[in-house]
Amino acid sequence: MPELPEVETVRRGLVPAIEGRRIEAVVLNRPDLRFPFPERFAERLTGRRVERLDRRAKYLLIRLDDGTSLLSHLGMSGRYSIEAEAGIRQPGDFVHAEPANPRHDHVVLSVEGGVTVRYNDPRRFGFMTLYATQEEAAQPFLAGLGPEPNSNAFSAAYLDEALAGRRTPIKSALLDQRIVAGLGNIYVCEALYRAGISPRRQAASIPGKRAARLAPEVRSVIDEAIASGGSTLKDFAAADGALGYFQHRFRTYGREGEACLTPGCNSRIQRIVQSARSTFFCPTCQR
Ligand code: ZN
Repeated sequence: MPELPEVETVRRGLVPAIEGRRIEAVVLNRPDLRFPFPERFAERLTGRRVERLDRRAKYLLIRLDDGTSLLSHLGMSGRYSIEAEAGIRQPGDFVHAEPANPRHDHVVLSVEGGVTVRYNDPRRFGFMTLYATQEEAAQPFLAGLGPEPNSNAFSAAYLDEALAGRRTPIKSALLDQRIVAGLGNIYVCEALYRAGISPRRQAASIPGKRAARLAPEVRSVIDEAIASGGSTLKDFAAADGALGYFQHRFRTYGREGEACLTPGCNSRIQRIVQSARSTFFCPTCQR
């Protein structure tokens, strides 16, 4: 499943292809993805100019010139590709998946300037919806989301307040979208490792010194992943359309049984299951 840094990289890749341009034609090749498309979806997009492309948590928000926003979620396997004069480009160089099969091109946008943007999603867990931008606060997918993990709002002081009295493990608390938006399993494992905090520790015990260590680590794992995604944008012309995670060296995630990377630590990374998700951690470095 693409996580926040992957979605941000897709956003940055799409900006030059669609921002400021008019959508000239829309082809829908099926009536639904995870949910049905909104009524008259193609008609409502046709002729609109894209004013800006934003992101909130893992949602792409395409701002249109009639005061509506198109919300797009990539689900498990959604991907965008851009076809322009320079050839087919993939916004974000992902790994671990096969090239896009054109049979799964469910939405095709013809954009001013000879650009074609395709949304391909073999498993169809992604979805798109339209809403009035000024009613965004009431948008069900966006209402109640916590701060972005790499924003100033996500501070130690904020974490102190958000975690006070919570009896769930810190791992589960950080996956709660109301506490922090768009932070997924991989980056939670990485941030807890860097902060030296056990994933099993009760969230209520984090406020104070531990929150002061954790907040900046959450922020830096996300910033570094976005930066590594951004660096792949330069050569996305060569990408073959694979979707997955960045070729990014994780310090704990996926390293069960391997040596802990902390200098002087002789432990091996362990895997446990919390809330049906794998957690990777070092039992010595993380307390
Ligand atoms: Zn260790």
